[in-house]
Amino acid sequence: MERVIIVGSGPAGLTASLYAARADLSPLCIEGWQPLGLLMTTTEVENFPGFPEGVMGPELMMKMREQAEKFGTRFITENASKLELSGEIKKVWVGETCYESRTVILATGASSIKVGIPSEETYLFGKGISTCATCDGAFYKKMTVAIIGGGDSAMEEANFLTNFASKVYLIHRRNEFRASKIMVDRTKNNSKIELVTPYVVDEFLGDGKLLNSLRLKNSQTGDLKTIEVSGAFVAIGHKPNTELFADQIELDEKGYVKCQGRSQQTSLPGVMAAGDLQDTTYKQAITSAGSGCVAALDAQHYLEHHGW
Ligand code: NAP
Repeated sequence: MERVIIVGSGPAGLTASLYAARADLSPLCIEGWQPLGLLMTTTEVENFPGFPEGVMGPELMMKMREQAEKFGTRFITENASKLELSGEIKKVWVGETCYESRTVILATGASSIKVGIPSEETYLFGKGISTCATCDGAFYKKMTVAIIGGGDSAMEEANFLTNFASKVYLIHRRNEFRASKIMVDRTKNNSKIELVTPYVVDEFLGDGKLLNSLRLKNSQTGDLKTIEVSGAFVAIGHKPNTELFADQIELDEKGYVKCQGRSQQTSLPGVMAAGDLQDTTYKQAITSAGSGCVAALDAQHYLEHHGW
């Protein structure tokens, strides 16, 4: 019988693992076959405290994992396939193997949202459309690319892409940007970036094998125009990864896990949630890590309360 199983290994899952490990609970972290969360697909993180020179996302995550492991976290590098969260004994399946635990901390994070038009599927992954500039940006040396979105991710990735691409169109559906002022200013001051607003992608165009242009629609006038691009990067936000347990715990209307008051306790006793799957507002690496810490402390108190 495990005392704490953590599902997910981004900043929330790894901080929960670290705290549970230091509380001598010997946690088991199901880190997933694509571990360490969304920061693995980012470049430099400038706003994580303790790194005045900035730190690369993957490096930060590997350090977090190392720290959690140092204090006794055990990792399984596979996805959880099924969860049974009600009752005093929680069950977590990884393939055919079932692990039983007194508490579970859900930290499965969030995934990229797609534009949602059929032609996007035609060119997604390796054919011109990507959801990860860090992963795929280097394929577009001296080419023209587009990034879609008006948040911090879009701004950050647009600037990153100028390291490779000769020109970057930033396409956003409004004239105002959700991104922070510093990121908007940096983007506006980058001579390789052209802002295209207020536009949405009406169609991804190509020969069926490779993307070569985008048909854009003005979201105010409906006017259409086409721009030639070799690549398009979609950065329009994320949705919480709650499919595995959506029918078992209380979610809000957008599908985020609901936690109680200032705790990370979900609607089921002994089940905590931390990180992007329960955060509709802040969504920062540091707030995810903070919620992971709280979730582990909540799990610890729950175990103590029951004498486990
Ligand atoms: P976000 O803040 O939710 O922004 C998503 C953007 O995509 C918005 O501009 C939104 O437009 C647009 N959008 C959404 N759905 C769309 C659709 N169907 N078609 C066209 N456009 C659409 O997401 P994010 O940029 O990924 O950022 C997520 C969180 O991470 C934020 O809290 C952000 O501050 C944080 N973050 C921080 C940093 C940093 O500090 N360095 C870097 C990256 C991310 P509207 O504005 O019109 O809704």
